[in-house]
Amino acid sequence: MMRGTWRTSESAQLTQFKDLGLAEDLLRALTAEGYTTPTPIQSRVIPAMLAKEDVLGTAQTGTGKTAAFVLPLLQQMIDQPSSHNRKGCRALILAPTRELAQQIADSIRTYGKHAGTTVAVVVGGVRPGPQIKAVAPGIDFIVATPGRLLDHMSQGVIQLNSTTNVVLDEADQMLDLGFVPAIRKILAKVPSKRQTILLSATMPKQIRKLAHDFLRNPSEVAVAPVARPIEKIDQSVMHVAATLKRRALIGILKDSGVDRTIVFTRTKRGADKVTKDLEKNGISAAAIHGNKSQGIRERTLAGFRNGRINVLVATDIAARGIDIDDVSHVVNYDLPHVPESYVHRIGRTARAGKSGVAIALCDRAERTLLRDIERLVGYALKTVPGPQAPTSKVHLPDAPTQSRDAEPRNAKKSNRRRPGRARKNRQDADTGNTQDAGAANPAKADTASRPPTAAKRRRKRPNNKARVVRTDTPVEADAAGLARVIGKIGVNASGENYLRR
Ligand code: AMP
Repeated sequence: MMRGTWRTSESAQLTQFKDLGLAEDLLRALTAEGYTTPTPIQSRVIPAMLAKEDVLGTAQTGTGKTAAFVLPLLQQMIDQPSSHNRKGCRALILAPTRELAQQIADSIRTYGKHAGTTVAVVVGGVRPGPQIKAVAPGIDFIVATPGRLLDHMSQGVIQLNSTTNVVLDEADQMLDLGFVPAIRKILAKVPSKRQTILLSATMPKQIRKLAHDFLRNPSEVAVAPVARPIEKIDQSVMHVAATLKRRALIGILKDSGVDRTIVFTRTKRGADKVTKDLEKNGISAAAIHGNKSQGIRERTLAGFRNGRINVLVATDIAARGIDIDDVSHVVNYDLPHVPESYVHRIGRTARAGKSGVAIALCDRAERTLLRDIERLVGYALKTVPGPQAPTSKVHLPDAPTQSRDAEPRNAKKSNRRRPGRARKNRQDADTGNTQDAGAANPAKADTASRPPTAAKRRRKRPNNKARVVRTDTPVEADAAGLARVIGKIGVNASGENYLRR
């Protein structure tokens, strides 16, 4: 049984942090950050946590959810100081990626700087020794990814028998990455007399099940429409041939007003290729994905944060949770296979009340993916013109998805399915989050993530007569397409071009 669901529109909202009963040390740190007014999730979660309740929260990144759970944890430590148990922590926070774990730890240091708070980050991809040393005397917070934490626990160098608070952040991404078994093993080692907080951008059945199994009579808090992009993002799509995507991207990035940009590619190799291309064109760019060492990933993020790097080219590893101020643009160089990833990707801009721009580059083979995205967000993205290719009278067949274009938006046969096994594996591989148990084989990422090809569908068509075809994509715009049809173009009696099949 859930204790009750609060939504932003319901119940009176507390308007100032000082009304929430936070200690002076925390208020000072908040003032230094320029925060005086709690965000909706903060004004819901902080009182519930201070009342020692478990919380099941539906909230996207960018809503201020990190402070929503960090502040009451700090407050509880201030209210009840206690000595640490060796190899243990008072509060454990689990996050899906190393970057998010690092970022949460940074927030704890920021908000807890006057309270003398101690925090250790326990993630894969780096030497375990310093982590073991940091936790050895006992510590206030451990912020961890599940795989590395489980390694330390199995070696007896971290023990959770004195932990009183657990937070599962971005729970649905942990589910996507296959971390749920690890989470269950970890929670089995934490005393049942504890406070548990579970936050998730979406609330699929498995996450509800996890909450049911591990939370006690939680307050349910929902502060944002689930899986819908924030209103402040100006979203558009540029229909462009695959071979013209790089030119399109460079055009976008060279435009004035485009400042700090994240470009998302589907594969690690794709991210490296795009980065090289941008650098050749005088644009300072760096790639971040699962094949990069943790050191490089951290240096890249730091460079992007401090403005040394203008363009971060990333796989989905950077789509969730990463909070970098003033990202002006997000470019989806490849459309994601899982429409929810689109929402998370574009959520890297327009953070903390700011506005932002998201542009999707969509080639013909990706039109089905665009449909899926449009169904999820509930509207068609506006189209912006792409780079012009030289025109020709000869045209390639239009995308095989065209008949689906005619479907009404609210067609029952929706593609808003949860990822099936194959889709999920692709998604796991795409994250590049290879450091922990449960992540997919990154070596397969490039091949596994190809969209269903147009050629495959075309092969199914009857092959017995020549077909007149029309499209708005000029032949020169698509070298691969041109190669496919060389030798197959004919002229019929009316002078129209046709493809011999
Ligand atoms: P999060 O959803 O935790 O990733 O937070 C998104 C951004 O909002 C971060 O840059 C926070 O520093 C910022 N933030 C958190 N709380 C507040 C607040 N009360 N007022 C303004 N900004 C905030």
